[in-house]
Amino acid sequence: MDEHILIVDDDTAIKDSIHEFIERSGYNSLTASSAEEALELLKSNRVNVIITDIMLPGEDGLHLTDLVKQNHDIDVIVMTGYSNDYSYSEAINKGASDLIFKPFRFEELLLRLKKVLKNRQVLQDRARVVDKLEELAITDGLTKLYNLRHFYNQLEVEIGRSNRYGHSLSLLLLDIDNFKVYNDSYGHLEGDKILVRLSQIIKSCLRNMDSAYRYGGEEFTVILPETKGKKAKNVANRIKTAVELERFFLEPDKISTITISIGLTEYFKKEQRSTFIKRADQAMYNSKAKGRNRISSLFVEPASDQDNNA
Ligand code: GH3
Ligand code: MG
Ligand code: MG
Repeated sequence: MDEHILIVDDDTAIKDSIHEFIERSGYNSLTASSAEEALELLKSNRVNVIITDIMLPGEDGLHLTDLVKQNHDIDVIVMTGYSNDYSYSEAINKGASDLIFKPFRFEELLLRLKKVLKNRQVLQDRARVVDKLEELAITDGLTKLYNLRHFYNQLEVEIGRSNRYGHSLSLLLLDIDNFKVYNDSYGHLEGDKILVRLSQIIKSCLRNMDSAYRYGGEEFTVILPETKGKKAKNVANRIKTAVELERFFLEPDKISTITISIGLTEYFKKEQRSTFIKRADQAMYNSKAKGRNRISSLFVEPASDQDNNA
């Protein structure tokens, strides 16, 4: 078993006998004689559960529980004598997972330890499921890019930041050129493969802070926080070139290339999210209108469209 149990008791005889029993039961165990020593051990040892006496020299076991629960993901079982004036609820309120009265039979301690470890496992499994569900909720199933819902949320977050701190914020909208032709010629499944590969290419061209989304069928967006239009254009160029250079292997035995049209725009302070997106969309449409396979920037009104025939 890969569980590490720390036993804290200033009574050497009790501490050592619990230690021996815990080890014989198949767990890894280490010991400390005080709360201070226990906290020191936690700095360099992995521990899953602490079994601590309440009465300790220096800080007591409840204070230790308090500190441990604030700073670590560790369960604590506290031990107390019948004569001591500690209640179950007091220990639980401090965050203890269980309380056991001395003297106890080791078998009882072992049962309680097993119960705590089992609960721990259940909670960890549940947390993993929640993490996975949260990830699924923001991920596009086919391309594994973030989905449209997450795009709207993240754009809102970045717009908030841009308005608060005055950071620039750029947005790219990308659309595959004549994609219908690929679907019609090779079938929808082969078209899907292109979407998957293209998504990987887009991601590979981004910096850590940038994020890519599947906006719709064969349309993608990229949010570029703290990025002015000029720099965003570099990113757009990188993507456009990488896509042009890519060879897509389609069934049966066909190698194909694709091109994309990109719209680029920069956020204007206090403007609506929808206005911002619409401008990126208009810029992308301008790329289509001008012959596709290009990047168009639109920083103000459509009249001042700056076409970049890169
Ligand atoms: P344009 O250059 O004007 O963008 O031409 P287009 O053919 O790419 O554009 P249009 O909007 O006319 O068609 C988009 C096509 O993208 C329609 C559909 O066949 C394809 N498409 C959309 N979503 C998916 C998808 O999830 N998988 C596949 N394989 N194709 C898709
Ligand atoms: Mg489209
Ligand atoms: Mg298209």
